[in-house]
Formats: sequence, C-alpha cells, structure tokens
Amino acid sequence: MINWEEEVRFDKLHEECGVFALYGHPEAANLVYLGLYALQHRGQESAGMASSDGRKIYSVRKMGHVADIFTPEVLNELPGSLAIGHTRYSTAGDTTLRNAQPLSVACGKGQIAIAHNGNLTNAIELRRELEEDGSIFQSTSDTEVILHLMARSRERTLSGALREALLQIEGAFSLVCLAEDRIIIARDPHGFRPLAMGRLEIEGQRAAVVFASETCAFDLIDAAYVNDVEPGEMVIVGPEGMTRERYTPPEATAHCVFEHVYFSRPDSIVFGKPVAESREMMGRLLAREHPVDADVVVPVPDSGVAAAIGYASESGIPYRQALIRNHYVGRTFIEPSQAIRDFGVKLKLNPVRHLLQGKRVILVDDSIVRGTTSRKIVRMVRSAGAREVHLRISCPPTISPCYYGVDTPSLRELIAANNDIKQIEQYVEADSLAYLSLESLRRSVHDSDHRFCYACYTGKYPTLVRIDEIVLAKTGCC
Ligand code: AMP
Repeated sequence: MINWEEEVRFDKLHEECGVFALYGHPEAANLVYLGLYALQHRGQESAGMASSDGRKIYSVRKMGHVADIFTPEVLNELPGSLAIGHTRYSTAGDTTLRNAQPLSVACGKGQIAIAHNGNLTNAIELRRELEEDGSIFQSTSDTEVILHLMARSRERTLSGALREALLQIEGAFSLVCLAEDRIIIARDPHGFRPLAMGRLEIEGQRAAVVFASETCAFDLIDAAYVNDVEPGEMVIVGPEGMTRERYTPPEATAHCVFEHVYFSRPDSIVFGKPVAESREMMGRLLAREHPVDADVVVPVPDSGVAAAIGYASESGIPYRQALIRNHYVGRTFIEPSQAIRDFGVKLKLNPVRHLLQGKRVILVDDSIVRGTTSRKIVRMVRSAGAREVHLRISCPPTISPCYYGVDTPSLRELIAANNDIKQIEQYVEADSLAYLSLESLRRSVHDSDHRFCYACYTGKYPTLVRIDEIVLAKTGCC
C-alpha cells in the first residue's frame, strides 16, 4: 500500500531545465549563449556555460537570466570551439548558485563539465551510498551524483566512465557533458525529456554539431534540425568525428506529454512533432468534447493560446485576446504597501474590458495545478463584465506529481487529486469547467503506439519511483 503521506518527506529535486551543446565552431560561446537565450522559458533562475579551447575548460555560472549573465565580457572568458550550456529553474529547497549548472570537476579522467535536464529518481540513494564511501558533495543537485559516479569509475576513458555512471542512474535525463576535446550527449532509456540534434553549416569548413532541449534554439542560430538523440543513446563528438552508440537497450518509451501540453515553446519540434500543431489539436478536440454556447473564446496567455485557437476554429466562436500579458514581470517589483486584491495575477494579466463586457466567455488554459491562479483569472474576467465564464482545460485533470523533472506540487496541493470536477468548478468560480480526455490528448500528440508518459494524469509511473526509503510505484506505462 502506498503511503502518500511519505511524499512530503521526499526532497523533491524537480528541475525544469534547458540544455545546449555545440562542437566545432570558432564562436562556440556566442552560439551557446543564443541557444540558451531561446531556451530561457525552460528555466529562469540560473544559467551557466562551460567551454573548452582544447586544453582547458572555462566555466561561468550565475543566478539570473541568460541575457543578463552573458555580457560580452563574460563571453570573452569562454574561449574555444566547443561548449555546453544550461538554464535552470528549480523548486528544490536549495536554489543557490552552487546548484547552478554546468557543474565541473577535475578528476582522473581530466576536466569534465556536465549539465542535465530531468530528475533522477534514485539520486538520494546513490548520494547516500557515495557519501558513505567518502564522496563529498558540493551541491544538492542530482547532477553531481553523475559526476561522482564518473570520477570513481575504473574505466579509463571518459565515455567509458560516463557509460558506467549512466547504467547506475534511474529516471529522466537529457545530459550534455564537456571534456577538453569532445562533447558527450546522452539520453535516458525512456526518453522522458527532449533532446534534439542539429547541424550548423560553416562556409569552407566541417559543419558544427549542435544539441538542444528544443529545436527553437536551432532556429535562432540557423542550424538545421537533424533528428533526436534516441532514448538510451550516447553521442560522442570529438576530433575523430561523431559516434552514436546505444549504451543500454531502450526501454518502453515514455516521452513527457506535458512538454506538448505546456512546457515547450510552440515553435519547437519536440519528440519529432510540432508543438503548435498538437496544442491546436488539443483545442479542437476539447471543443468537440465540451462545446458551450458562448460569444467569445479567450486564451489565458501564453499557455492557452494555441489550444484556444484550435477551440475557436473548431467551434466557429470568435477568438479574442481579451487578457493581455505583461511579459516583463521580473522578480524585483515593488509590492504596494496596502493590500491590493489578486495583486500577483494583475501584475501579469490585464483584461480588455470592451471585449468581455456582457459576453459569455470560454476561457481556455492548458492546465489547473493548485487552482489558485485559475480562480483569480476567472474572477478577473467576470469583474471585467463577462456574463458567463466557462473554463476549458486542454489536458486531463492533473492528479499525480511528476518525478521526472516537471515542477508539480505535492499530492495534497494538487486540486484534482483531492476534488472532483464539480468541486473544482466551484472552487475556481466558473459557470462550467471541462477537461480534455486522456484519449483526445493521446490523439493530439499522435500517440497511437504508446510512446508518451501520462503519469501526471493517470498516476501510473513508467519506472520505479522511490520516495525516500519507500518504493512508491512502478504501475506500468499507460
Ligand atoms: P493554478 O490555477 O494555480 O493551478 O495555475 C494554473 C496555471 O499554471 C496555468 O496557467 C498553467 O499554464 C500554469 N502551469 C501549469 N504547470 C506549470 C508548471 N509546471 N510550471 C509553471 N506553471 C505551470
């Protein structure tokens, strides 16, 4: 019997991140900077880069946004033609600089820098074992576990040591590693998190090879998307060229469907499928499953935009951008000394009154997690004059936390884990509330061959999930 109460003891290392790597361009650091800039939505807390000039690894890690960290002076400190980069957001207890990536060490295999996106589900056990054996950790990030496993490996080559480390870790990882003369890229055998490979042509020279969490990072630097690093694959790019090998047999593929629902940029191709297309299809199918007689379809920007476009086209009800988002909301705003109701959401969104006045509104968003934001937005739309507010969500109810790298709160905070749809409807104060069915979500991402993970909607985890000492579940891939 699963003891869900234990969940709160789990030191969640949920990390939403973006990774980028490049081999073979004289302006490596500048290009990785641009790649990270395009991946900024995957993590806004800290960013970092490590580069190599073939002899030495240079590294910069700072708190803050990519454009603020990588000034021309900082980029000058990152010479060489190969580099890796990372942008990070974490809800883990510790959000300090020591957890920023790439992490780098000098060990028997030379200098190594490493960064990863995803969440290792056995990091706590491995760390405990390593510490008992004398390893001294400098961060609370699970990425450091991989570094220690590599450093302790008896394998003589770096790729051999990484392979050995990868065979010991479990969970989700799309990983980029930099040595003095090569980059090594690897993806977990389930392929939870995305990892795309591209080519950047250089006149009169061998093309540079690039890797990124999302293809939108390639577009900015004019690189062409080639294909994805396969689940269970390791790619080495060095002076002798590129080699691709399976370090382990692939397991049941479990791509994170939430990348298509919310997390990735709509202009990216993720798991080989255009995100904008799947989001629009989610909206179309939502309109078919849950029609409403209404006057306007309004997206919650930006997360609901593509689905709202799909809903409007399918239903024939006009699409109106009646909520305007301020894109420049940062950490450092001055809160008013007197309480202003719903201040947080007002800072980000403002209604266009004349589009809402007297209207029956279909409000489309991608998901409800705790319900608190959705409630504020429904109130905002109603107080701007809407006669009715019908909330439509372009995925099924989120009933289970993610252990593979998406920031979801604990079970007790997930509104749909503890309430039925009618209760949620009442809580968010909507005239009606409806979610997309699992079947339609699956159709939207063309998942006829069961290659996606839907654990946040089903509670069925495709791998063992250990919560502290407790083995929570391996309930099978759905
Ligand atoms: P709430 O009503 O408080 O549950 O918030 C719902 C909003 O949070 C929706 O607009 C979602 O797009 C957004 N959201 C969902 N999942 C995440 C996530 N992992 N990180 C940040 N925002 C999210």
